[in-house]
Amino acid sequence: MASNNDKRSKTEKVIMVTGASGLVGRAIQAVVAEETSRPEEKFIFLSSKDADLVSEEETRLLFEKHRPTHVIHLAARVGGLFANMKYNLDFFTDNLKINTNILNNAFKFDVEKVVSCLSTCIFPDKTTFPVDETMIHNGPPHPSNFGYAYAKRMLDVMNRCYKDQHNCKFTSVVPTNVYGPWDNFNLEEGHVIPGLVHKVFTAKRDGTPFYIWGTGSPLRQFIFSRDLAKLFLWAIREYEEVDPIIFSVGEEDEITIKEAADLIVEAFDFKGPVILDTSKSDGQRKKTAENTKLRKYLPDFKFTPIKEGIKETVDWFVENYDIARK
Ligand code: NAP
Ligand code: GDP
Repeated sequence: MASNNDKRSKTEKVIMVTGASGLVGRAIQAVVAEETSRPEEKFIFLSSKDADLVSEEETRLLFEKHRPTHVIHLAARVGGLFANMKYNLDFFTDNLKINTNILNNAFKFDVEKVVSCLSTCIFPDKTTFPVDETMIHNGPPHPSNFGYAYAKRMLDVMNRCYKDQHNCKFTSVVPTNVYGPWDNFNLEEGHVIPGLVHKVFTAKRDGTPFYIWGTGSPLRQFIFSRDLAKLFLWAIREYEEVDPIIFSVGEEDEITIKEAADLIVEAFDFKGPVILDTSKSDGQRKKTAENTKLRKYLPDFKFTPIKEGIKETVDWFVENYDIARK
């Protein structure tokens, strides 16, 4: 009996995107919808409703059903500093299982290329800056998110093992802090930009102060989800290395948490008091990453200025308050 793979034309690509209902996945869906159509590409966008990827069996059934030729692997247990501090074990075990299931099935079902997602928060805590792609395994990660960090690092280890043993083209990309529409705006679970957006929204609505957690002095490079989506699509189509590649704005675009908060205050035209709650953790002081490798491949790629990206995110949250994760 001919398998779906046999029936498929040699040039047809079936690109399966895991975690497509999240921040990054929604942006990929939007960019694909706006692109000139490429008849040789068929996208399959998945969420946890299609399969719980922690389950080996559900993951296998998913590959059997869709027979992808390519996988953009985004699905993960994801959270901001405070969720990571609370659930290090769950971040480690869930992500390790999800990633093992995805790569194991990608191998079994002859997937041509997998692009998975690491993060700049998995780099060693004690390091020189800026970090680059060669430094991921050079020392322990920050204690606040060591569960997530080690699970993500193992993706890179597995990619190399699959290459060594089976010549698979499984690779990874390393984004900095991502933000944009469809983020998780829940204060307990989410990252800093959605957290700040949600808090300014509430402060403006209720006439209460806006609290920034921590000292506001840690530094971050933020990438707009639409920019990251374009880079992911470039990677699944063009990037051929097994070694990871950092997807980041330049070092000159690194800003403090307080500067990010100020941009959000401005986007809301919030006039009330702004208070730094220094009883809360600052997390990693900085994780400055260089984008030299990306610039070698894509010297002309234009990142969305953060002021524009934040305005779009704030407008999206206000317009979609009822459906936003919060
Ligand atoms: P997100 O908005 O929280 O989305 C997570 C996605 O994963 C959702 O589609 C979710 O499906 C899916 N998912 C979670 N657990 C699953 C499971 N057990 N089975 C199947 N699907 C599952 O996260 P994101 O920010 O888009 O993150 C995407 C990728 O980027 C992740 O690999 C993350 O580690 C990486 N990353 C994110 C950031 C950042 O700042 N956000 C920075 C660097 C790297 P449901 O919607 O159905 O729950
Ligand atoms: P990280 O970049 O991996 O550390 O994770 P986050 O995106 O959660 O950013 C954490 C940084 O933002 C820390 O310095 C926090 O003290 C600061 N921060 C300020 N307000 C908030 C907030 O409302 N939510 C979160 N998650 N972090 C906040």
